[in-house]
Amino acid sequence: MNDREYEQLLNNNYNKDSNENNSFKSHKYSVIKIIFIIIGIIIFISIILAIIIFKNSNKNYSVKFNLNGADELNQSIINCKSDIFGHCYVIMPTASRYDGEVLGYSNDATSETIEYKINEKIDVTDNMNLYVVSRKKYTLNIDMSEIDELSTSNSGLSCYSYNTDNSVCDVVIPQFNKKGYSVHGYVETKGSQNQRFFPGETHKASGTLYPIYSIISEIVPNIDIKESFFIDKAYVDVENSCPDDVVTKYTDYLKEIEKKAPFLFNYQKIIFHGDKEFFKKNIFGGEYSFALTNFCGSNGNCDSFKNNTRSSVINCNNYDNAFDEYLSIIHELFHSADSRYNFHFGKYISDEDDVTQLYNNYRDSSLDKCYLPTYDINNKPLRFYAYGSEKEFFSELMTFYYINYIDTNYKIKDIDFEKKSIGFGSIIKEAYFRGNFPDDMKKVAEKYYCILENNFDKNKCS
Ligand SMILES: [Zn+2]
Repeated sequence: MNDREYEQLLNNNYNKDSNENNSFKSHKYSVIKIIFIIIGIIIFISIILAIIIFKNSNKNYSVKFNLNGADELNQSIINCKSDIFGHCYVIMPTASRYDGEVLGYSNDATSETIEYKINEKIDVTDNMNLYVVSRKKYTLNIDMSEIDELSTSNSGLSCYSYNTDNSVCDVVIPQFNKKGYSVHGYVETKGSQNQRFFPGETHKASGTLYPIYSIISEIVPNIDIKESFFIDKAYVDVENSCPDDVVTKYTDYLKEIEKKAPFLFNYQKIIFHGDKEFFKKNIFGGEYSFALTNFCGSNGNCDSFKNNTRSSVINCNNYDNAFDEYLSIIHELFHSADSRYNFHFGKYISDEDDVTQLYNNYRDSSLDKCYLPTYDINNKPLRFYAYGSEKEFFSELMTFYYINYIDTNYKIKDIDFEKKSIGFGSIIKEAYFRGNFPDDMKKVAEKYYCILENNFDKNKCS
């Protein structure tokens, strides 16, 4: 090794040492840096936490409670201070209402439901103004002493008025049944027949209503009922002598109609009756009829509810197969609906101007009543029975409408034309064939179908 080489080696070593020394120093600085960073972070977090705690704790909130119709509150204001976690717990005070019950509390004075229960512990995050939610129960009593059943349980006759509302709430008047009788509605004073109230209407939930009923015929007054049942809102009574297969058949018809037009069953009474004499004696003219609605004894000695009998009495011992029972039942149910309209508006649909005008347009006034020897089906849709009175015209019009537009699949029964002269003319296929519904008839039928379907709300129907 010469001098130069040695010098170079020394330099190299020096350089090496110098590098090692630098590396040691850099490690030391890194550790210190990290420690400072950690301390910095800890200080930063502490400051943030301090700020948060400072912001949240020691906050003063007040919760105010308002009686809102209740009588007592054990605390009307509760103040609280939030803890270091920002929580401020308040227990909902107890409250009472002398004439009713307290449900809890709400932010809304008019609320009927609660947001907080009594004794519930809530975490308050702001000032609050709470209202007691309370209610008072009202009940409408129905005198059950002379009747068999109500269409609703007694609990359905109670309702509640909430908070500061001191008015008596309303309930829906139920249908009642007295087996074998026509049912007419209710009065508020026993024995009175003046102000009447009807199933389906609303009534203040206080006092007592007394049911009004009557025998279905003065001439054949006694009727034994072997079973009673409901179809929708209609009571059906079955008289003892009705054959089971006929009861099944007619019940199926009713259920079928109910599916298509449930409004026809609103608070209705239907009786399947097997006494042919009843049907003979109850109509003027001495003919048997298939069914009767809105009638009273043939001697004309009706009670003051004359023509308001909503019961439809249907013959279950009909041996004369000269008409379509399904359509006849629909016809009867529209008589009842006509009667309900009268309860509602004080006028029958069949007496409304547009109906009577239509009736007069189609009826041949030169011919008396409904016996039309030269009856021409092309000029007079509907069976000739329809032209005997406005009431029959209306029921026939609606039945005709029903099979043309509501139950278009129903196959009209083939009737022996020779047997058509039951009563004032049977429902014959020729009088009901589809597709021949005059526009003026359709317009009127559509309007009243709509009003009935919409529970007498004329605004929904043009
Ligand atoms: Zn009729």
